[in-house]
Amino acid sequence: MIAELKGANKAYQTPAGSFTALDKTTLVVNEAELLLIIGPSGSGKTTLLSLLGCLIDPSEGQLWVDGKDVATLSASEKASLRLNRIGFVFQQFNLLAPLTAEENVAFPLEMQKLGRAEIKQRTADALTKVNMSEHRRKFPKQLSGGQQQRIAIARALVTNPKLVLCDEPTASLDKNSVDTVMNELQALARSGKAVAVVTHDPRLTVYANRAIEVKNGIVTPIALEKTQA
Ligand code: ADP
Ligand code: MG
Repeated sequence: MIAELKGANKAYQTPAGSFTALDKTTLVVNEAELLLIIGPSGSGKTTLLSLLGCLIDPSEGQLWVDGKDVATLSASEKASLRLNRIGFVFQQFNLLAPLTAEENVAFPLEMQKLGRAEIKQRTADALTKVNMSEHRRKFPKQLSGGQQQRIAIARALVTNPKLVLCDEPTASLDKNSVDTVMNELQALARSGKAVAVVTHDPRLTVYANRAIEVKNGIVTPIALEKTQA
C-alpha cells in the first residue's frame, strides 16, 4: 500500500461551530490500482483526497503515506513527500498560462532542482506517455480541454510519484476527452501507480479497479458490476 487512513476524520472549524466533513474513515490506497471515489457535491470527496495528498491534517486518527506517519513529519519533510511521492491533477487543469506545455510539465523537476539534461529527458518521456509530444511548444490556451488535462497528467507523473490524486479530472471535458483522460489514468495504474480519482460521475466506474462512495462524509465500498480493468 502507498497510503492509509486509520480511523481518520476531518472537522472544519466554522463560525457556526465544528463541522465534520469526513467521518472516521479507514481506507487503504494500493499500488497498481485505480480507486474511484464517487459522491455528490459537498459529500467530502475533496476533503478525503486532500488528506491523502497531505494538504490537510486529520482532526483525529492517523494518516500514513509511503510508510510514514504523516503527523510525525516536519513541514519541510511533508513538502518533500508531496513533491516527490505525490502527483496532483485538478478539474481546472491549473496549468501556468505563460508557460508552454513542456515548460509546465518540467516545472516540478525544476522545483526538484534536477540537472538540465535529466529535466529534458524526463519531460520528453512524460509527454510521450500521454501522447502530447507534438503539442509540446503550445501554450495552454492553444490546447483543447482534453489536451490540457493530458498535459496536467504528464506534469503529475513526471516526478515518477507513487500516488496520483485526481480531483474531478474529467468534469470540464467532453465525452471523447473523458475517454482519453481516463484511459491515460488507467494506463498509469496498470504501470504500477496508485491512482485515486474523485468524481460525481458513476459512469467512470468502468475504468476502476475499486470504488468507494462518500455520502455526508461517510465512506462505504461499492461493488463494481464488472471485473474490468
Ligand atoms: P466535495 O468535494 O465532495 O464536494 P468537500 O470535501 O469539498 O466536498 O466538502 C465537504 C463539506 O465540507 C462541504 O459541506 C463543505 O462546505 C465543507 N468544507 C470543505 N472545506 C471546508 C473548509 N475549509 N472550511 C469549512 N468547511 C469546509
Ligand atoms: Mg470537491
